[in-house]
Amino acid sequence: MASGGGNNRNGTHRNSLKGTTTTSTASTDKPLSVNSNPSKPAFKNKSSPLTGASSGLRKSSPGSLGGGAAKDDAGVPGRVRVAVRLRPRNAEESVADADFADCVELQPELKRLKLRKNNWDTDTYEFDEVLTEFASQKRVYEVAAKPVVEGVLDGYNGTIMAYGQTGTGKTYTLGRLGEEDTANRGIMVRAMEDILAEVSPEIDSVLVSYLQLYMESLQDLLDPTNDNISIVEEPKSGDVSLPGATLVEIRDQQSFLELLRLGEAHRHAANTKLNTESSRSHALLMVHVKRTVKGREPAHSSDNGNSTSMARSLRPPLVRKGKLVVVDLAGSERIDKSGSDGHTREEAKSINLSLSALGKCINALAENSAHVPVRDSKLTRLLRDSFGGTARTSLVITVGPSPRHRGETASTIMFGQRAMKVENMLKLKEEFDYKSLARRLDIQLDKLIMEHERKQKAFEVEIERITAEAQNRISEAERNYADAVEKERLKYQKDYMESIKKLEEKWMMNQQNQGNERKEQMVHIAEEVAEVKKLLSKETSLRKAAEEEVDNLKSQLAQLKMSEALANSEILKLQKMVEDEVCQKEKLEGEISMLQSQLLHLSFEADETRKRLDRGGPGKVPGGLDSPVSQVRSQLKDSGNGEKASVAKLFEQVGLQKILSLLEAEDADVRIHAVKVVANLAAEETNQQKIVEAGGLKSLLMLLGSSEDETIHRVAAGAIANLAMNEKNQELIMSQGGISLLSTTASHAKDPQTLRMVAGAIANLCGNDKLQTKLRGEGGIKALLEIVKCGHPDVLAQVARGIANFAKCESRASTQGSKTGRSLLIEDGALPWIVQNANSDASPIRRHTELALCHLAQHEVNAKDMISEGALWELVRISQDCPREDIRTLAHRTLASSPDFIAGLKRLQIDY
Ligand code: ADP
Ligand code: MG
Repeated sequence: MASGGGNNRNGTHRNSLKGTTTTSTASTDKPLSVNSNPSKPAFKNKSSPLTGASSGLRKSSPGSLGGGAAKDDAGVPGRVRVAVRLRPRNAEESVADADFADCVELQPELKRLKLRKNNWDTDTYEFDEVLTEFASQKRVYEVAAKPVVEGVLDGYNGTIMAYGQTGTGKTYTLGRLGEEDTANRGIMVRAMEDILAEVSPEIDSVLVSYLQLYMESLQDLLDPTNDNISIVEEPKSGDVSLPGATLVEIRDQQSFLELLRLGEAHRHAANTKLNTESSRSHALLMVHVKRTVKGREPAHSSDNGNSTSMARSLRPPLVRKGKLVVVDLAGSERIDKSGSDGHTREEAKSINLSLSALGKCINALAENSAHVPVRDSKLTRLLRDSFGGTARTSLVITVGPSPRHRGETASTIMFGQRAMKVENMLKLKEEFDYKSLARRLDIQLDKLIMEHERKQKAFEVEIERITAEAQNRISEAERNYADAVEKERLKYQKDYMESIKKLEEKWMMNQQNQGNERKEQMVHIAEEVAEVKKLLSKETSLRKAAEEEVDNLKSQLAQLKMSEALANSEILKLQKMVEDEVCQKEKLEGEISMLQSQLLHLSFEADETRKRLDRGGPGKVPGGLDSPVSQVRSQLKDSGNGEKASVAKLFEQVGLQKILSLLEAEDADVRIHAVKVVANLAAEETNQQKIVEAGGLKSLLMLLGSSEDETIHRVAAGAIANLAMNEKNQELIMSQGGISLLSTTASHAKDPQTLRMVAGAIANLCGNDKLQTKLRGEGGIKALLEIVKCGHPDVLAQVARGIANFAKCESRASTQGSKTGRSLLIEDGALPWIVQNANSDASPIRRHTELALCHLAQHEVNAKDMISEGALWELVRISQDCPREDIRTLAHRTLASSPDFIAGLKRLQIDY
């Protein structure tokens, strides 16, 4: 409802014919003058009284709507069209008002309504359409609604509204579903039928919402929980929208009927006394129709016909959006008068608010008032476009015939009259549909992509086919090549085999020639091989044995290592002892050197003294005589018991070790004195053991080898002879090469006393049973037989003693069976000397040789030699003349028992 239109609307005119003539003809101009709009033709067109405006719209010829021409963007003038409909008397009225005339009288052909004031006075009103109680629903639709619906389909907003007292047929007119009789279908159903018949379901859309406004609260009849929908107005365009309302897309009539039924069921109805079906709420059906304009360029297209199809396809489609609003208003009667109970006054005010606000706005518009209170109520806000806006609006006011409701009817008529004065500016709602263009392009793009993919696929298949073909060709070429190569190879192989064969034949021929030679070589080689094998196995076994030996040695080595470790510890011990000994030795050496100097001093003094004595008899011995060393020297010079005693004394005073160490002294005199002292000591059996233990024997034997002095030789040999009386010492002498040393000494000796000492020593050794063989082996017997050459009886006596000792031991061994064969004495040629000396004048010689002969004779094995050497005679003599009775008896018994001797005696004709 635009506030104050600047259009060529006329000012307000009273449409009442009150106070003027009651004839209808006279008032014709007056009500008509109310509608200053000259577009009367529509009303003159009987078949479609309101379509004049509609066709005008279609032809974009606003001029036909009356008023001035308007520019496109400003819209075309379109006055609110008002039709009045009279309900027939209902049953109750037929009875109650039977005696009264209707309060209205209709003149439909004149489009006039006469309202009876009293029995003689009426007011006449002219409307755009006057529909009697006999008007069919179809006719009502066509007259009051169809032009609006067509406008909506063409892209204009449209409003169809019913106004009137409760029970006068508003709902009947608008909302009847016509289920019982299709002829009764109301405007809503018929409008939807027309819309659905016109739209193309593929490109157009029909969306419906159904709402109820009650006590200023807007409720969604399609979703009762949604009971406070807010109204959003776009300030620029003035468009009203309800973002919170349910929008249902309608594709067929049946679903629309379902929707209406559902909405009706939800409708909050306030029962009133007047009519239980009537409502105190306003019902609003909103139908949004969006249509794509086909085969027409948009009105403002600048296309000059040169564009390509591509450009055309990129052009967004043109759409027209028309909104049809069908409003079934609440009853227009005053609430306090309605007698409805349960409502307080405040509630009644609130219930009537929207309707009275609508009345006020329409009044303001009709009177071209500066202020239209659109914002006073939700209904007026919602219908902003319908009154004074851009919509084509058609109002049906419903009246009842009863004179009892004359006041209400009059008020309704006045409302209709005022509404007729409201001028709207119809505007086409046309725009480009970029969204659908985008969708279309998306689809096109999808198609192109699909096409591309299809081509790509085909291309890939083709590539695969070509690849496979190429592969086949390649493999065929490869096969051909392989075949050719194989053929070539076979050919060469064959050639090769043939040449080999030829060569073999040649070789065979050569071979046959060389065959025989070769065979021999082969045999030879085979033999060599066998030989080598034998050697190899021998080597192997040797190697095994060696390995075993190595193992053995290894284990021995391990043992040795162990014992070596033990020995090492022993050695360490001994080394310690040796160190001690060395210390001791150093000490002794110091003492020795001291003694040596003393001895030298003494010797010097002794020589001096001797010289003095030689010169002039006993003189005074220099003071040194009293010294111990002087005593030693004098004692050494003494002989006999006195000497021995002195030596013993010396031994005690000086110590054996020191004396023995002097045996190795540098000075010869000292050595001589020392060896004499030792010899004297060795003469004593008690000293012998000590001397040997102190190493004296070893020193003496060494002196025999090292010294060239015969005195030393003589004295040392004597000492050795004395020591050789002991069996243990005999073994020591032998083990230290005594025989060899003694025989060498003997060979160099000039003094018979030296030889006597040597012979005595050997003679003692000869008396040892254990040393027989060794002694003889080392030339002991031969040495004795050498010594006898000197002829000194003392020497010979010692030799004889030795031979007797040897013979005795040998005889004992032969008797015991440990010795077999001839006597070693005989072997070494001692027998002649024995026989020769058996009857010696020197009794010691004779005694020993006689004994030796007797021992030799004991054994038959010696008999022959003895007989041949002339021992038999001696034996006979011994058995007769020997002064020792035991020897005599022995000789006799031997001669008597030995068969050889007996035979010998016989042969020699010895009478025995
Ligand atoms: P409102 O909606 O204005 O309150 P309704 O449409 O409910 O009135 O009508 C009230 C009663 O009158 C209903 O029973 C309805 O059938 C009946 N009626 C209304 N108009 C007509 C008509 N033109 N012809 C026959 N019956 C009608
Ligand atoms: Mg109703």
